Amino acid sequence: MSCVILGCRSHSSRNENNTENISFHRFPTEVTMKEKWIKAVSRKNWEWKKHHRVCSKHFNKDCFINFNHKWPRLKSNAIPSLNLLSELDVFASTSDTPLQSIQMPLGQQHIKVLTRQVSLLRKYIERLEKVARRRLFKINSLQQKTQRLKKQNIKLYTRIFNLQKNEKIERENLLESLENITKIIIKNDGSHEMNENECI
Ligand SMILES: [Zn+2]
Repeated sequence: MSCVILGCRSHSSRNENNTENISFHRFPTEVTMKEKWIKAVSRKNWEWKKHHRVCSKHFNKDCFINFNHKWPRLKSNAIPSLNLLSELDVFASTSDTPLQSIQMPLGQQHIKVLTRQVSLLRKYIERLEKVARRRLFKINSLQQKTQRLKKQNIKLYTRIFNLQKNEKIERENLLESLENITKIIIKNDGSHEMNENECI
C-alpha cells in the first residue's frame, strides 16, 4: 500500500512491522469531504480511485480519534494538510525527476510554491558551489604541499647518496692506511728478528 500524496515515499511494504507508526487512510465517502481531500492532494492528470490512500504523515495529531493506537482512525472532518509537496520532496525528486515532470495544476498558489522551490534550489546550488570551491582550494594547497615534499625528498636522497659515497671513500682510506701500518709493523718485526740472530 502506498500514499497518494506527491513526493511521499510512505509504503506499507517498507514498513512491515509498522515501526514508523504510519497508517494509511481511505478517502471519505462523504462527497464534500472527499472533494476537499482531492483538492489537498492537488495532482494534475490524476483521478481518484477507490484503492487510493493517504498516509498519516499528512494529518495533524488532532485529526485522529485515537492517535496512539496501533491503527489510528481519523475524525470525520480530518483533511490532509501536512507534508504536501514540501521542500524536502522537491530536493528528493530533483535528483531523479526533472522539475517540469512534477504534476500539479498551475494555479496562483502553485506558482508561488514553484517560485519558492526554485529559490530554495538556487540557494542549495550556491551552497554546493561554495563547498566545491572550498574543496578545490584544499586540493590546490595539497598539490603544492606534495610538490614541496617531493623537492625535499630529492634533496634528502642526494644527501644520503653523498654521505654513503663519503663513507665508502673514508672506509677505503682507513683500510689502506691500516694495510700500510700492518706492512710497516711486519717489516720492522722481520728486521728486529734478524738483528737478534746477528747478536748470537
Ligand atoms: Zn504520505
